[in-house]
Amino acid sequence: MRAITVSPGIANSARLDEVPEPPLSDGSVLVRTRALGVCATDREILSGVYGSAPPGEQRLVLGHESLGTVMDAPEGCGLSPGDLVVGIVRRPDPEPCMACAAGEWDMCRNGRYTERGIKDRHGYGAERFRVEPEFAVKVDASLGILGVLLEPASILAKAWDHTEGIGRRARVWQPRTVLVTGAGPIGLLAALMGRQRGLEVHVLDHNKGGPKEAIVRDLGATYHNDAATLRRLAPDVLMECTGAISVIRDCLGATGAAGIVCLTGVTELDKRVEVDIGGLNRAMVLDNSAVFGTVNANRLHYQMAADALARADRSWLERLITRRVPLERCNEALEHRKGEIKVVIDFAPAVAEAAAGE
Ligand SMILES: [Zn+2]
Repeated sequence: MRAITVSPGIANSARLDEVPEPPLSDGSVLVRTRALGVCATDREILSGVYGSAPPGEQRLVLGHESLGTVMDAPEGCGLSPGDLVVGIVRRPDPEPCMACAAGEWDMCRNGRYTERGIKDRHGYGAERFRVEPEFAVKVDASLGILGVLLEPASILAKAWDHTEGIGRRARVWQPRTVLVTGAGPIGLLAALMGRQRGLEVHVLDHNKGGPKEAIVRDLGATYHNDAATLRRLAPDVLMECTGAISVIRDCLGATGAAGIVCLTGVTELDKRVEVDIGGLNRAMVLDNSAVFGTVNANRLHYQMAADALARADRSWLERLITRRVPLERCNEALEHRKGEIKVVIDFAPAVAEAAAGE
C-alpha cells in the first residue's frame, strides 16, 4: 500500500512510498484511510526540526489528523465495519506516569509518551492503518470528510475544558466574552466552541478582508484585524492561537479581572521579544488573572470534540477545508499557501464523488 513517509531530521524528505500492510501490533481495528489533515506540526517535521521514526527505523509514516472507515474490528469493541473513525495521536509511555496511568496521557509528566506520525510511532498517512479500539473515536457519519477536523478540534476541546476547570477556582465565574487570536483552523475551532457555549466571541487576525473575516462573521462572532483590539476588549477568556511572540506579549495581562489566558500555539525556537515583567506581574496579581499552556488531548477531549463537530453547521465547517489534494500529489499539500485554513489529503476522491452521486 502507499504511504507518505519522511526521514525525521532531514529537510524536505517527504515522498509517497510503497510500505507493508499495517502490523497487527498497531491494533485490532483495521481502517481504510479516507483523509488526512495537514498542520504546522507536519510542516515542522518536514523541515527536519521535529519528529522521530520508530526505534531502529529510518523513515516515519507521516500524519496524525486522521479519518477513515473501519474495515474490520473485533466483535464487542464498539466499532463495526463502515464506521467513520479517527485515531487518537498520543500513547502513554510504556511505564506510565501517574497522568498516563489515569488516561490523561495529554498531561504526561515524564515526556516518554509516543505519538502517531510524530514521535516514535508510524502515523496515519497510509492507505490503511491499524489502531487499538480504545484509541479510535467514532465520528458522526453525517460529517463525512469533515470528520478530519476531529483531531484539531480535540485540542480546543481540551483548551476549553481546562479553561473552565481553572475558572472553577472561584465559586462564581461566568465568562461572557472570549477573544481568540488567529483565524487559522485552531482559532476558528476555538471560536466555534465559544459560540456553542453562548459566549460573545471576538477573533483577531492580521488578515484584512478575505474568507476568514466572512467565516468569523457567519459564526455570529466579530472579526478584528487591529492589534489595539487586545487592549480594548478586556475579555474574560483569551485563547491565543497564533504562537506569534508579539501577539502573545500583547495577550498577557490583557484580560478583564479574573480572566484566563490560554496559550495553544507552539512558537518557533529562538524567537524573542521584550516584556515589562514588572508591569505584567502587577496586572496579573491585581486582576487574579491566570495564564496557562495546553497541548494534545485525551480520549475525553476527542469525545467532546466529536460532539462539538456533530452539533456544528456542516456548511460552516466545510469552509474551513480550503484545499483538498489527492494522495498522488501529497507533496503539494505539505506546502503552505497564504490565507489557507485547513489543507486535507484526500485518499479516496473517487469514493467521495460516487457517494455524492448516489
Ligand atoms: Zn506519562
